[in-house]
Amino acid sequence: MKMKNRFFSLLLATVMALTMLPGKVFAQDGAGMTERTTGLDLSGKTEAEANEAEGWSWSPDGEGGYILVLENVNISTQSGDAITLPNNVDVDIVLKGKNHISGDTALSGVELKGGLVTIKGESSDASLTAVSNENSMWGTISISNLLIESGNVYTEGAGNVIDAFTMTGGSFTIDQTFDFDGWAALHTVNRVSITGGKLEITTDESEGSYGIYNYPSQDEGESGVYIGGNAEVVINKSNAGIVVWEKGSGISDGRIEVAGGTVKINSTNIGMYTAMEDIILNGGNIEVTSDNIALRAVQGNINLTGSDVGIKAPTPTSAGGQVIGTFHDIHQWASEWSYDDNRHWKECTNSGCSARSEYAAHQGGSATCTDKAACEICTKEYGAVDVSNHTNLVKMEEKPATHMTVGNMEYWYCDGCKKYFSDETGMKEIALKDTVIPNLTAHTADNTGWHSNETNHWNTCECGETLNKAAHTFEWVIDKETTAAEAGSKHEKCTVCGYEKAAVEIPAMGTDVPQTGDSSHLFVWLMLAFLSGGAVLTLTLKGRKKTNQ
Ligand SMILES: [Zn+2]
Ligand SMILES: [Zn+2]
Ligand SMILES: [Zn+2]
Ligand SMILES: [Zn+2]
Ligand SMILES: [Zn+2]
Repeated sequence: MKMKNRFFSLLLATVMALTMLPGKVFAQDGAGMTERTTGLDLSGKTEAEANEAEGWSWSPDGEGGYILVLENVNISTQSGDAITLPNNVDVDIVLKGKNHISGDTALSGVELKGGLVTIKGESSDASLTAVSNENSMWGTISISNLLIESGNVYTEGAGNVIDAFTMTGGSFTIDQTFDFDGWAALHTVNRVSITGGKLEITTDESEGSYGIYNYPSQDEGESGVYIGGNAEVVINKSNAGIVVWEKGSGISDGRIEVAGGTVKINSTNIGMYTAMEDIILNGGNIEVTSDNIALRAVQGNINLTGSDVGIKAPTPTSAGGQVIGTFHDIHQWASEWSYDDNRHWKECTNSGCSARSEYAAHQGGSATCTDKAACEICTKEYGAVDVSNHTNLVKMEEKPATHMTVGNMEYWYCDGCKKYFSDETGMKEIALKDTVIPNLTAHTADNTGWHSNETNHWNTCECGETLNKAAHTFEWVIDKETTAAEAGSKHEKCTVCGYEKAAVEIPAMGTDVPQTGDSSHLFVWLMLAFLSGGAVLTLTLKGRKKTNQ
């Protein structure tokens, strides 16, 4: 066991070293199997046959078709096909391990009558490496009707000539190293349908090299290219990525449709091209990079709704001679906002793209009497100033006019807009002169209060005149109440100006009879005494009532 483990790790290291080498080095397939140097021609074999040493078996499937199992085969012919399949029947090719076949054409089969060749990998790393040489007339894999269901297929050399190509899983890696007789990397005439697995194409980049080439030259069968599901299609540098030509008759035939999956194309001339029908990109994630034209539908339309399309090309799209305004749905949005007076948006930075993102009216912020509102999204000022939203509206109190000085009515002033208003909401604008109350023709009392002498009081006006002159109107003010034993005091005071005369004594009473005032005074006192006594009685009764409850 130890020896075996060491052997395998040594083998693994060798394989890893080889796969890391640049250029066209493939894994050394069929290790341990006998190399076959003549073509395996199965076209006339109707009976089951197997060659364990070479790693293949051929058996009828009981339904008119055959099963070819390839297990680490290594077939290398100097001329002719490495493997030739019978015509017009179904053949399932089951891959086990790593298989390597090379010849003028590596794998050949013609199914004009509807037979289908299906490639299946028994495990996810099972593979078939097919290599064609410079004498190839019909490409590396030449099969009329091919389905790759699973497993990994690599081709190297010329392109592959397949009338109808379907892929639902596995991988198909095409390395087109020479462009013999105009075969494209994947050269087709009928429908191409890729709904699973990964197709990766690298061309020699020569002028006229194509990734997927669909030439509807036959009268029957659908044409065009369909990519959907979870397919992954990568076309590395090529002159044109996916191309559907017109029939010789010029009749509309095939369209290119991407409904799902991922498509990445890098082309020197054209990313996708249709001669007659539409290019419909309504799903999936698509990236087209071209040195010239990204998408061109010569007589059809280009429909980009529904997919995420990123395009980098001087001429993004053209359809019927018209350039379409919006080129893609995944754009390179600028980080900065663009805006006009009313709206903001982000522009796509891809050359030639006029698409806008987040296109919306400015919003939020609040305008004042001096400034427009600043959009809370893009910060651009928009709209009009709000004449009713004052930055600092201050109330000015009313000031009456006098004989010598003008006054003003109550008003409000905003030092933002420097305007005057007659109302507290700042809506009714007035002129400053409208707030002025003219000075009065009559004299007005100044703020020095009352002036007086022993008999009269009067005011003065700012102009120096006197006004409101009148005799004092005195009333007595008791300073100290008199008692039976002690004398009190009182003085006269003007009820208007407050002028006071000197105090005079109130003699002590000596008896119960009040000595001051008259009978009317006594009556008032008696009334007061009666009323206060009544109040006390009322309170007493109330209190008693409460305790009885
Ligand atoms: Zn854009
Ligand atoms: Zn804005
Ligand atoms: Zn204002
Ligand atoms: Zn005056
Ligand atoms: Zn007075």
